[in-house]
Amino acid sequence: MLTKESTITGVQVNYYFICKSKLWLFSHYSAMEHTSDAVFMGKLLHQTSYKREKEMRIGPINVDFIEEGKGVVLHEVKRSRKMEKSHIYQLLYYLYYLKQKGIVATGVINYPLLRKREKIVLESSQEEEIEGILKDIVQVVSAGTPPSPEKKPYCKKCSYYELCWVM
Ligand code: SF4
Repeated sequence: MLTKESTITGVQVNYYFICKSKLWLFSHYSAMEHTSDAVFMGKLLHQTSYKREKEMRIGPINVDFIEEGKGVVLHEVKRSRKMEKSHIYQLLYYLYYLKQKGIVATGVINYPLLRKREKIVLESSQEEEIEGILKDIVQVVSAGTPPSPEKKPYCKKCSYYELCWVM
């Protein structure tokens, strides 16, 4: 599978931090993702907590919702902070993507179940890091086979558990 940096999605950036095998498997077999309870619960949480807000797709990025007023603010809705680093980089990638298109935005990660919000700002010094991550994602996804799986606490809840550990 050929992946260009310009087609990388937020989910791919998120999975890069969670598990490189998951990133590869998702990029090649994304149809299996609907079997994941976590993905379904995330969608449900968004629909029930922010009923009036609509998801927005801009190129390869899919933002939970956008607030416009004093500047553009991208919002992501997450269930827990267990994967916080992956959430932060997913949103940083969105901010980076928009900046490349000439749109300066900030972000907020919303944790409605925890009643918490985290403000995310893309610093210029982070842009090089994001570019390195995107190059790395292309390398992982373009490989002919997935990286060898490494056991993680959340493997049993992952859509790809059987591919990694049973087959
Ligand atoms: S089962 Fe575990 S190792 Fe395999 S893709 Fe999922 S998180 Fe990664």
